[in-house]
Amino acid sequence: MDFKSYRNEINSGNSSVKELVIDFIDKVNNLNPKINAFTTITKEKALQQAEFIDKQITDNSKLPLLSGLPISIKDNLCTKGIITSCSSNMLRNFVAPYESTVTKNLWREGAICLGKTNLDEFAMGSSTETSAFGVTSNPWDLNRVPGGSSGGSAASVAAGLCLASIGSDTGGSIRQPASFCGVVGLKPTYGRVSRWGLIAFASSLDQIGPITNTVSDSAEILSVISGNDPFDSTSLDFPVPDYISSLNNSIKGLKIGIIKECLEHPGLDDEVKTSIEKSINRFQSLGAEIIDISCPRFNDGIATYYVIAPSEASANLARYDGVKYGYRSLGTDNLSDMTSQSRSEGFGDEVQRRILIGTYALSAGYSDAYYKKAQRVRTLIKNDFDKAFENVDILLSPTCPTTAFLKGDYSNDPLSMYLSDLLTVPVNLAGLPAITIPCGFDKKGLPIGLQLIGDVLQEEKILNAAHIFEQDANLIISRPKIKF
Ligand code: GLN
Repeated sequence: MDFKSYRNEINSGNSSVKELVIDFIDKVNNLNPKINAFTTITKEKALQQAEFIDKQITDNSKLPLLSGLPISIKDNLCTKGIITSCSSNMLRNFVAPYESTVTKNLWREGAICLGKTNLDEFAMGSSTETSAFGVTSNPWDLNRVPGGSSGGSAASVAAGLCLASIGSDTGGSIRQPASFCGVVGLKPTYGRVSRWGLIAFASSLDQIGPITNTVSDSAEILSVISGNDPFDSTSLDFPVPDYISSLNNSIKGLKIGIIKECLEHPGLDDEVKTSIEKSINRFQSLGAEIIDISCPRFNDGIATYYVIAPSEASANLARYDGVKYGYRSLGTDNLSDMTSQSRSEGFGDEVQRRILIGTYALSAGYSDAYYKKAQRVRTLIKNDFDKAFENVDILLSPTCPTTAFLKGDYSNDPLSMYLSDLLTVPVNLAGLPAITIPCGFDKKGLPIGLQLIGDVLQEEKILNAAHIFEQDANLIISRPKIKF
């Protein structure tokens, strides 16, 4: 259900917001044991918020934008008084003492918190399989992964357990799961949205963004969570445009660049390729001008990202030492053993692997060869994009090389798993905004995602093009028929 249909329900007066929210909570309670999208259900908070909105309705008060809309939050955003676990044993019992700026803004605008959603541990992964709380199932096929790391968020929206979710995207973690689950995922420009209260993974890449049923819902959430925040020195101090009013602008003459390196990549699944080609034709028939573009360094993104992200992660995760933060192992008799035992027991394999890679890449003697070199390649990737945007308005690519894979397919092969981020990581390295929208299905009935990439702070353009495409393709009405 999109925001519009839900608002019609509220406006019909047949049920109170509280009753509608109770229906959602019942649905979560029934379906979550199968899907494992939620790690915490915040029934009490949801009902309190719903009662408040109902009172505002009775009082005829002016309602804020997201009034009464039930949403979920990835469990790496701090929510005051509620467990914020990062799906890690390290933070299994961590109750956040403060509220992230993004969630604070959402509650201020009337959104309702249904709960926290599952993720790959500390947002490291592409399948939600590295979560300490078990894998999430893809609502389109419960034997498949929902993608990651915001897999719980994407699955919660696709399964109809909430109207929208908030995820984080360091190398694709909003877009890849949204694509696997057939929903809309937006990663804003680096700095567009405050990260105060987001548990850091790789600070030069992390961004928070919405996962929704429609592009218009995405624009609404973006308008609430964007903007400068004195608590986050990396947040940009530029006015927030009206993302909603520009959605229906005509895209006649819009120049869309097709990144050659993406469509010609040997790892790209044939059915994904065909669906993207059809989508390019659709854009053309909607009046857009299609231009072939080359970003020669695009495919170096993975190697670059998997040096930079683990390096930053190794520094960010140093704070979990059993003293300042996190799980403490008992039974050791000196500080050094206690720290190392706590980290060995608290972190899972993938997180430990990243810390080791990152520590190695940053160590004296190797940092020039790995970390600094990766930073240089990062600049080259950004230069390719800058050049492309001299000739086009937005860029188009598939979001992922394949559709959702089976659980366990890559659990013992981390390098192959890393390749599923092929088409998303260059965008983070360059700090650009990008959106994924459903554009078709493969023969197994699994959704395929299309990625639109904008220049810095050009969210309006990608939202506009995505919205016009979505209206024309009329794909959003398809939802998984969950069999239980
Ligand atoms: N899959 C990527 C990784 O494992 C991206 C993760 C993310 O965006 N948080 O690093």
